[in-house]
Amino acid sequence: MNLQEKKYFYFTQNSLNTFQNCPFQFKKKYIDNVKWQQDDSLDAEEKIEFGNDFHETAQRYFNEIPVFEEGLKTNEKLYDAYCHLKNYFPLDSKNQYYPEYTIRYSDGLVRLEANFDLVIVKPDLSVEIWDWKTNSSPDKAKRYLESLQTKVYRYVLKKCMKDIFGFDTDFSKIKMSYFSPENECVIGEMVYSEEEYKKDEKDIVFLMEKIYNYDYDKFEREKYLKRCKLCEFQLFCSSQPEKKEEKKHFSWDEIEEIR
Ligand code: SF4
Repeated sequence: MNLQEKKYFYFTQNSLNTFQNCPFQFKKKYIDNVKWQQDDSLDAEEKIEFGNDFHETAQRYFNEIPVFEEGLKTNEKLYDAYCHLKNYFPLDSKNQYYPEYTIRYSDGLVRLEANFDLVIVKPDLSVEIWDWKTNSSPDKAKRYLESLQTKVYRYVLKKCMKDIFGFDTDFSKIKMSYFSPENECVIGEMVYSEEEYKKDEKDIVFLMEKIYNYDYDKFEREKYLKRCKLCEFQLFCSSQPEKKEEKKHFSWDEIEEIR
């Protein structure tokens, strides 16, 4: 299957990450379309549910759809996170808010989809990209800022903003930030620059060319073994599956974006 010919296929930061972590896992998920349910621990399931609930609550808040606060109060953690959100992001009628917003960008070889948790357009034509990092901590800031997510999101936004918002803006007016709802704090923020934009483009094109040209018949599993314990495709890969272990380091970042 030649992915380059699948014009409907857009790369998300998750799919690109999956390829980097293990090309065979990428093939199973995105080329063969194998949906394989992973047995998550109770702890992981609770964290996923909290993340989903928070994203939905934040979406309602920024869309100014009434949030049933009395109901939220039955879940103390979620209610606290919602209060932190309201406190940190008081709604300003001069701003435009785009919660749970998807932008697709296509230009020949490059086909990208960015699923933003929130984009804020301000009256001075500055644009803020926000991503909710539930179940996370400030010590991950460097990792987030250097991540494919940061690259893909800010690059797609810069490429598409004129078509979508009707204006282009200087790189210095685009900012990407990660917010921890439980801690009410920013865990990493970065102002864009032309230099980073050029590097993002180079990195993204390089990675896509690598994916398009990858020869799965020459996949070397030994190079990716450290990912196997967390992988749902163990049984496809080996007659000697890795010993099943409880996910000790569940990460919200490892699951797909919320739609
Ligand atoms: S089990 Fe390991 S080698 Fe196989 S797809 Fe998963 S991560 Fe890759």
